[in-house]
Parts: sequence; structure tokens; C-alpha cells
Amino acid sequence: MTISVSVFAFVQRRVKVFLLVFLITILVACWALTRSNESVPVTRLSKKLMQEIQQKIEVHNVEMFKQALKPINLKLSELERNFQDYGKKRFLPVKYLAEKDRKRILITGGAGFVGSHLTDALMMAGHEVTVADNYFTGRKQNVEHWIGHENFELINHDIVEPLLIEVDQIYHLASPASPPNYMYNPIKTIKTNAIGTLNMLGLAKRVHARLLLASTSEVYGDPEQHPQNEDYWGHVNPIGPRACYDEGKRVAETMCYAYAKQEHVEVRVARIFNTFGPRMHMSDGRVVSNFIMQALQDKPLTVYGSGTQTRSFQYVSDLVNGLILLMNSNYSKPVNIGNPDEHTIMQFAQIIKKAVGGKAPIVNVKKMEDDPQRRKPDISRALKYLGWKPSVALEVGINRTIEYFKRELHKSKKSKLVDL
Ligand code: NAD
Ligand code: UDP
Ligand code: UDP
Repeated sequence: MTISVSVFAFVQRRVKVFLLVFLITILVACWALTRSNESVPVTRLSKKLMQEIQQKIEVHNVEMFKQALKPINLKLSELERNFQDYGKKRFLPVKYLAEKDRKRILITGGAGFVGSHLTDALMMAGHEVTVADNYFTGRKQNVEHWIGHENFELINHDIVEPLLIEVDQIYHLASPASPPNYMYNPIKTIKTNAIGTLNMLGLAKRVHARLLLASTSEVYGDPEQHPQNEDYWGHVNPIGPRACYDEGKRVAETMCYAYAKQEHVEVRVARIFNTFGPRMHMSDGRVVSNFIMQALQDKPLTVYGSGTQTRSFQYVSDLVNGLILLMNSNYSKPVNIGNPDEHTIMQFAQIIKKAVGGKAPIVNVKKMEDDPQRRKPDISRALKYLGWKPSVALEVGINRTIEYFKRELHKSKKSKLVDL
């Protein structure tokens, strides 16, 4: 009897111990599972979600985020939280930023070519972005994929008029940029660069925001120094056809430093060299869009003048990286942002012709008045103070841009069919 009682007690103890161990194991497993859900790479947890994001990125040509996705160390919970439905619309993933790190950012000219890529990068980094644009050369479609997102706002506004808004940073990009566009209405170009910049500096002063001016290599004019560093004062014809833009940007720079000195506004000045990539306007008349469109349609590639003049082309994602680095740096003097890889325009025509294929001839046509003959940035300042240098090779960028133009051409052909 006593034996059976003690056996029973022993078995009971074993069962209790077993149950306890079992319970602990379950708890530990649950804890481990939640931990792993947070830290295991997305690819292993949700291939479908990753594919969906990749497709969106392709459609919107979001170069910056392609790079960010490469290490795939984003957490599923983070992505799901941000790649969410607002109504019926799905957005690209947006990083979660704590309030102290999240900035309210104004991008003037944000619906343009460069501005829209900058919008993508800043939105995906988790900031609150307001785009102010009058759609002179930009279009809503470039930022359409953010409309409706709680961090995004689009204002139809001409910066020649004052703007009242509360922000921490201003990327001031509003200005026509291609020669045919800025020569189309030279007075408006001057007003945009002079009065528009004055308004943005007034705004920066009032709300204590930092302002980055998208200046240009055109401030060096037709340069007598090669390559151009930031200490070069330039060689600009003040009454030539390019003056509305060149002098407009020069006075914009002057105003930045006057507001910095007199009103203690924090300014950053990026001197941007020729930039290309998806979302350039198909008919903006710049050399990249002209040559690609001509080659795609088997039309002659029009080289203005002899084609011995040179340019150095940078891909748009390199520029966007440089702008963000400059804005957040402590360096306040002008900085060249460009790719020093220099080509003659004739060589460039041959590169495009080869990349597109087809039989389009290259022809020489009338030269442009005051066309700068040589242009190549000295980027030692950007390297020294920002740790920045371009990373996208010309051929890679060109191929991506050709793909974009092919898609745009296809779309416009389809819409013409619908019109008929
Ligand atoms: P873009 O023409 O595509 O974009 C300019 C944007 O500014 C457009 O969306 C346009 O609608 C808007 N805009 C023009 N006037 C305005 C006004 N008065 N009010 C509000 N919005 C206005 O040109 P981009 O290539 O994206 O150039 C962006 C900036 O970078 C410009 O300031 C340009 O001078 C500078 N930049 C560009 C290059 C380049 O190669 N792309 C080179 C040097 C400098
Ligand atoms: N401005 C603006 N938004 C602001 C503050 C100023 O657009 O939030 C404009 C203002 O209308 C003026 C310009 O910026 O035309 C320069 O402003 P500032 O205060 O420097 O000069 P002031 O108004 O004294 O002439
Ligand atoms: N260019 C050309 N054919 C074109 C368009 C431009 O030969 O169809 C030349 C232009 O004369 C200049 C260079 O290409 O020398 C770059 O022109 P773009 O308008 O792109 O920019 P810029 O650097 O002159 O502002």
C-alpha cells in the first residue's frame, strides 16, 4: 500500500515537473518566434510582399530605394506597417522615424525631374514632405504615387508669390533647367530665381529653416578654367540668351549668402552639373532626352555645332545622395555635385546610338549661341567635406534612362490610339 502511494506521488511529481518544463519550453518558443519575426530578413518571411515592393519600385524608377533594399535588413513588421493601404492605394515602404528625427521638408520644384527623385528618397527615409510646384516644366505624375500618403503634401504654388508654411528644411529647386525651357520666358526665369529665391529665404528666416539652393554649373558660364572648382568666379555673358538662367542662379547664390550673413539663415549651395535619368521630360530639349528620343525613333541625332564641346553627365540618384548629404552637413560654402567623367557631345551621340541600336544617323546642325565649350566638375570639395562621389557608371544610367523613355513612348503611342 505504502509502496503504491509513494509510486503514485513520484509519478505525480514527474508529471508536474514535465508539465512545468513543457510550459517553459512553449513560452521560450513563443518568445523566440516573436523575436525572429522582427529580425529575420524580409525575403524569408514574405516573398510576396518583397515582390510587390520591387514591382512598385520598378514602375516609379525609385533608384535610391533599390540600393537600400539590397542588404535586405528591413524588418517585416516595419515594412508591413509602412507598405500599407490608405483607402485603396498602396504606397512604397516608408521608414518609421521617431519624432525627434523626422523633419518637415519643403521641396520647391518637387514635381520636376530631380525634385521628384528627391521626394522619393526623403519620403522613404520617413520625413514629412511638402512639394510646392507650379507645373511649368514638372508634372503631377512624377509624384502621383505619394498623393494620399499621410506624410506627403502637394501644393500648386508659384514661388514668385510668398508662401506661408512651417518647415525645418527647404530644398529650393524650383526653376526651369533646360536651355529651351529657361529661354522660353526669360523674364519669368529671372523672377523665379530672384523673387522666388527671396521668398524662400524670407520663409527660411521666419521659421528658422535651413535652405539648400539647387544652383548650377552655369554660374561658371563658358569657363576659362578647366576643370571648374568652386573658387572659380566664372565667365558669364550678362546679356546673352543664357543670362536669364546663369545670372538668375548667380543672384540666387548672392542672396543666400546675404541672408546667411545678415539674418543668420543657414544656407547650403549645390552647384549641380548636367544630370540625367528617368522622369526627364521627353521633349525638354536637353541633349540626353533629345539623343535618346531621336535614336529610339530612328531620327537623326542632332549635334549642335562641331560636337567638340564637352559635358560631364551624372546619374540622378548620385545627385540626390549628394543633395541630402550637403543639406545635413556642416559645410556652408558652394559645393560642386557632378560626375567628372567628361565626353565630347559627338562621343556622347555615339554612346547613345550604340546603346539604343538602330540606324539613326548623327548629323551636325547649327551651333547654339554662347554654348559653354568645356565643362567638368572638380569634386574634391564634395569628397572632402561630404565624403561624396558619384557611383553610377554612365552606361548603367543611360540604359536605365533608355528603358524609361521606351516605356514613356509606348504609353504616349497607346494614348494616341485611344484618342483616335
Ligand atoms: P525640371 O524642369 O524638371 O524641374 C523644375 C521644377 O520647378 C518643375 O517641376 C517646374 O514646374 C518647377 N518650377 C519652375 N518654376 C517654378 C515656379 N515659379 N514656382 C514653382 N515651381 C516652379 O528641372 P530639373 O532638372 O529637375 O532641375 C531642378 C533644379 O536643379 C533646378 O533648379 C535646376 O536649375 C537645377 N539644376 C538641374 C540640372 C540638371 O541637369 N537637371 C543641372 C544644374 C542645375
Ligand atoms: N516670405 C514668404 N514666406 C514667409 C516669410 C517671408 O514668402 O514665411 C517672403 C516675403 O513675402 C518677402 C520675402 O519672403 O517678400 C522676404 O522676406 P523678408 O522677411 O526677408 O523681407 P521683408 O518681408 O522684410 O521685405
Ligand atoms: N546639344 C546638342 N544637341 C541637342 C541638344 C543639345 O548637341 O539636341 C548640345 C548643346 O549644344 C550643349 C550640350 O549638348 O553643348 C548640352 O546641352 P544641354 O541642353 O543638355 O545642357 P547644357 O549643359 O547646355 O545646359
